[in-house]
Amino acid sequence: MLSLSYLMRPSLHLPTMNEDLSNMHLSKAEFQEYGYRLVDWLAEYFDNVDQYQVLPSIEPGDIRNMLPGSAPERAESMEEIIADLDRVVMPGVAHWQHPGWYAFFPSGASPVSALGEFVAAGLATQGMMWSTAPAATEIENTVLDWLVDLLGLPSSWRLDEGPGGGVIQMSASDSTHLSLAVARHQFELSGADANSLVAYGSSQAHSSIEKGARIAGFKHIRSVPVTQTFGIDADAFAQMVRDDIDSGLIPAWVCSAVGTTNTTAMDPIRAIAVIATENGMWHHADAAYAGSAMICPEFRELQDGVELVDSYTFNPHKWLLTNFDCSVFWVADRSKLIETLSILPPYLRNETEDNPAAIDYRDWHVPLGRRFRALKLWFVLRSYGAENLRTFIRSHVAWAEELESKVINDSRLELTAPRTLALVCFRHTDGNEATRELADAINASGSAYVTPSVTDDVAYIRVSIGSTWTEQRHVEDLWDLIDSNAGIK
Ligand code: PLP
Repeated sequence: MLSLSYLMRPSLHLPTMNEDLSNMHLSKAEFQEYGYRLVDWLAEYFDNVDQYQVLPSIEPGDIRNMLPGSAPERAESMEEIIADLDRVVMPGVAHWQHPGWYAFFPSGASPVSALGEFVAAGLATQGMMWSTAPAATEIENTVLDWLVDLLGLPSSWRLDEGPGGGVIQMSASDSTHLSLAVARHQFELSGADANSLVAYGSSQAHSSIEKGARIAGFKHIRSVPVTQTFGIDADAFAQMVRDDIDSGLIPAWVCSAVGTTNTTAMDPIRAIAVIATENGMWHHADAAYAGSAMICPEFRELQDGVELVDSYTFNPHKWLLTNFDCSVFWVADRSKLIETLSILPPYLRNETEDNPAAIDYRDWHVPLGRRFRALKLWFVLRSYGAENLRTFIRSHVAWAEELESKVINDSRLELTAPRTLALVCFRHTDGNEATRELADAINASGSAYVTPSVTDDVAYIRVSIGSTWTEQRHVEDLWDLIDSNAGIK
């Protein structure tokens, strides 16, 4: 029963109504003024990013302590908001765009990509169906078809040729998860017991493989041994498949890594494809980082056999000058993907749903709504042109090669994995502790940031060259830093 005190409470505060809401937004003049100011701010940042320490010197909680505990009740001025970029945000930025960023893999961005992102944010279309975003859909269709050719992938992956097709996802992890979900659905449709399905990835595969398999409901996830060069041992894989079949299980999905995270190792796609095809498995290729390099024909032999896979993912947001998020996912046969994900409630029915020229991307990924991510990719591909993109990738690979030869020629250091593209993995010959100390010294310098890692109990340093603003001189500076901290020769 409602208490009397509740009924007698003084009037609840109702929001004020206003017939004209337009004056609560930035006016056109304000939008222009602050928009130009922010473009200037970002232009200065790009120009001076090398002046910052790569990693900020802050402790957890420092940024939060500068922020009020509750949201503002009254509007604040843009002056105050913009001032807080320098006061609050910048002290807590890890500068992924710093030319000395050699950690993880690069997080590609570029001025033109930022502009594409800006326009997409303003248009704010929801690309769930062709009818809700015709331009976003058709630009995405076209740009991904361009990329099929630019990367030397099978032309049947082009939407306009088929039966394959591409879609932009948020991340490679999403793409991998999706391929697992499609594989599972296909096996279930053919009457297989989902509890018997097995997914395989190499012991060097990215964590997204196991995560994707787990959330796609796979009960059996196998870690396949690798050879000395860290690619899948195809014989060991074949044996694992036979053993699983003998135990009554169903090999269903396998991932070939086109460039592992640890060392950019390449799995033997062609040999894996033979085993996958013989056993009716779904074969997915994870080229999250290395896929961008395929714009240069000379690197394509690294993914020999790629025409045999069922799905493929790569991240322009890593090494192709396009800011996060932008991960491309191609399937060799789009009907399986659509069959798995298509659900059509009455409110999504539309006049073009049966028109093959009108792609409804809601059936190509988990979310319904989707951003106009293709715009920034379109801007990037047009503004740089394939020629410049090739030069960008080739330069990084050449500088990595130079760094590699310096490591090889230095008795204090040794490579821990073969270099395939622009990632150099090396250690100190004095062992794990000396290697970690060297990594710490490089990172403490503030001018460079590398990732220390460990494989089979061997500590090593990953230097991934690929940042937008990195030049040859920065890699030479990095070598000086390594040289001066590696101890007496
Ligand atoms: N696969 C590989 C080989 C990677 O190196 C990475 C990230 O570095 C991923 C997958 C995950 O990428 P994302 O962050 O787009 O999910």
